[in-house]
Amino acid sequence: MRGTTKIFRIFGIDIQLHFSWWLVFILLTWSLSSAFFPYYFPGYSTNIYWMMGGVAALLLFVSVLLHELSHSLVAKARKIKVESITLFFFGGVAGINKEDMKPSSEFMMAIAGPIFSLLLAGIFFLIYKLNGNFFWTAITFYLFQLNLILALFNLVPGFPLDGGRALRAILYAYFKDLKKATRIAASGGRFFAIFLIVMGIFSLFNGSGGIWFIFLGGFLYFIAGVSYQQVVLRDTLSKFSVDEIMEKKYLALNPEMTLHDLLKKYANKEEDVFFVKDKTFSGILDLKKLGKITSQMQKMITLKQLAVPLSKVRNIKKKDTAYTAFKSFAEQGLDLIPVMENSRLVGFLRRRVLMHRLILALKYDLDKDVSVNGKNVKKNLVKNTVKKKIKKKKTSKRKKN
Ligand SMILES: [Zn+2]
Repeated sequence: MRGTTKIFRIFGIDIQLHFSWWLVFILLTWSLSSAFFPYYFPGYSTNIYWMMGGVAALLLFVSVLLHELSHSLVAKARKIKVESITLFFFGGVAGINKEDMKPSSEFMMAIAGPIFSLLLAGIFFLIYKLNGNFFWTAITFYLFQLNLILALFNLVPGFPLDGGRALRAILYAYFKDLKKATRIAASGGRFFAIFLIVMGIFSLFNGSGGIWFIFLGGFLYFIAGVSYQQVVLRDTLSKFSVDEIMEKKYLALNPEMTLHDLLKKYANKEEDVFFVKDKTFSGILDLKKLGKITSQMQKMITLKQLAVPLSKVRNIKKKDTAYTAFKSFAEQGLDLIPVMENSRLVGFLRRRVLMHRLILALKYDLDKDVSVNGKNVKKNLVKNTVKKKIKKKKTSKRKKN
């Protein structure tokens, strides 16, 4: 995530702070010390209230961190990679690599957080009841309530909240269809978001905290939609491999060719990304990435000087899923990625082809298999359409390398 700083590392997980955390920390300390504590525990000095506010805000974020850590530790126990935990505006997110997660793992992981928050609420409640010191009584009074709210809010069965994840895991185990399970769980999330917004509008008229409910509801509604789309994308693209959509025969341009000659030769073609190769050099040239080059320069500059060497491009493998390729395109900002096998170039994948295949897959919804004599009609339909398109392109431009 952008705008984050790593603060420390625990159990092999990077703990990061998003810059919005500081804003919330200051706001929270301020509102606690100027309103909450003076209201519930009157009669102390301003300095004491500020100290209470600071300590309480800090411990609240520790509580959120522990909530996220409990998700992550269950994940690690289930052999799922956890890269980082980021604390930000509305709480925390754990960067968990979770392709192909078992429903039981997702369920355990999802409920671990709220359960730990409930436990923390219980501990803070005990300290609040047993401790005689007013300072800690006040702070634990606040913390037991907040941890309870954190647990209950997260248990709401709306994706992507923890309760929604647990619900999705149950639905996934039942329907064996991740997209369907996510769709239902995400509509739970949207329903809850609308409920929050309506509550917020009502409390606007009563003059207490309404704007926060509306804000939170809006955020949740947005996130529910985005999370569902991500699942659809991953689910769809994980179903086919790079091998199915890559170009195995490709055009290779001579690195010594000038840009002028290239533009002249391919001026009317829609292609703008080329593979450049001879015995000593291989690279990718993306015409869109070039700045303005004068016509005089174009006659002098060679493709070798303009292309990105293959050694500088992260490659993909034939058996990688289209989803891995999709992430690679996004991370590298390239339109053409080399496919390598045992450090040998075996072909290329174009972003355009991948996106085309994605659109077709979404259109014909490969989940709803249509079988004729045991053959999957729609899958073949999509395959053939893509192959035809690629063939068409290649026949017009192919040149033996
Ligand atoms: Zn959680």
